[in-house]
Amino acid sequence: MITCHNLCEELEQWAPLEFQAAYDNSGLIVGDPGMEVHGVMVALDVTEEVILEAVSKGCNFVLTHHPIIFKGLKQLIGKTEVERCVILALRHNVALYAAHTNLDSIHGGVSHALAEALTVKNLSILAPREDLLFTLSVFTPLESTDAVAEALFSAGAGRVGQYDECHFSLDGKGTFRPLKGSNPALGKQGERSVVLEQWQHFVVSQERRGAVQTAMELSHPYEVVAHTWTSMENSRSDVGFAVVGDLEQAMCWDDFIKHVKSVLGLTALRHSPKVHDEVKRIALCGGAGVDLLPLAIRSGAQAFITADISYHRYFEAKGALVMMDVGHWESEQFTIQLLADYIRRKFPNFAILTTTSLTNPMITV
Ligand SMILES: [Zn+2]
Repeated sequence: MITCHNLCEELEQWAPLEFQAAYDNSGLIVGDPGMEVHGVMVALDVTEEVILEAVSKGCNFVLTHHPIIFKGLKQLIGKTEVERCVILALRHNVALYAAHTNLDSIHGGVSHALAEALTVKNLSILAPREDLLFTLSVFTPLESTDAVAEALFSAGAGRVGQYDECHFSLDGKGTFRPLKGSNPALGKQGERSVVLEQWQHFVVSQERRGAVQTAMELSHPYEVVAHTWTSMENSRSDVGFAVVGDLEQAMCWDDFIKHVKSVLGLTALRHSPKVHDEVKRIALCGGAGVDLLPLAIRSGAQAFITADISYHRYFEAKGALVMMDVGHWESEQFTIQLLADYIRRKFPNFAILTTTSLTNPMITV
């Protein structure tokens, strides 16, 4: 039996919820985590058509990129599309799950899928995240330092790039006085204790923080563990938004436009004026990525493919690169297959369908 919880866990191993942006609402949005899942329907957006299609095909878990509930819901009376979808999902006992900015942030995520479809290779993350690392500093009596370090390493502390078990420590002297009601591992109530301690420091990534805190509490001998979490601004090259890479061979401008239109199935394409006769290095951001334009320019890209670009923003690209608006749905269309393929690999003997309904709410003629 596969439960809703099993699916969520597997998806979050791949695209940890900790990677979502502060404004986002990724994860399980509607549904009982303990419910047995009979089949998964994958789409880019939740719509009433997608939910009804899932029900008609025996799927009770709808997996999408965009979260159905983004801002708070104050009523559920069917007044808006969002309210109607939530009511419909609840009525048919269908779970709704979104992998949104967390899926944008991982290697192999939304922008990678777009780049691969356009045969852009040697990909690296364009905007590495700078809000996902912490330092944990903990005071440990000398005789317990190895055990605590071991437990924290096992929980994922001390992983930096291609290294693990990274740790720094300083020896020193600590004092404390256990008060009434305490149950000290060392010393006596009412008396000051002086202990030889080590000040241990570990780098911890956001997604490991909970497990590392638990490991510290379980492995440390002190009743109250003196420790500090400090947020770092160091960037992570393995997590972040958008990608930059190279076409195998430079393409002349007209051929490149044809290539983009044909791969993405576009009838029209809006872009800023041509800068180079040929393009080779391409920056890409599935969805609304115009704020990353300065990084795209700095990366040396000759073209920046994204969506949702407003009129005035085109001036910012002038003379530096060609910024292209390929459409929001169009830039993220490969995410449907990306999600379906991942679930299929993890649950090979399970019904995983992709929607036949075109959820794009924007029509270009
Ligand atoms: Zn999007």
